[in-house]
Amino acid sequence: MVPAPRSIPIRSCIACRNRENWTELLHLVEIDGQVIPDPDRKLDGRGAWLHRRCFDVAVQRRSFSRAFKSEKDLSTEKLEQFLSESH
Ligand SMILES: [Zn+2]
Repeated sequence: MVPAPRSIPIRSCIACRNRENWTELLHLVEIDGQVIPDPDRKLDGRGAWLHRRCFDVAVQRRSFSRAFKSEKDLSTEKLEQFLSESH
């Protein structure tokens, strides 16, 4: 039995805005003012998608606050830690 072809969801990176197959992007959620990496896409909450390589651009452009519609700057400490450990 041949599985039916399934379309792969496309998401936009919050930093460069390029549309991408979501397997190429890292899922992020915002919890209590912190940007939390969610590589397994298990967490609830408002989600955003980012290329790992676009982290610096996202910081420069304040893309996180925009993506999560937050008025204050969000902490990216957890995300930075995740990215540095996953190299
Ligand atoms: Zn990007």
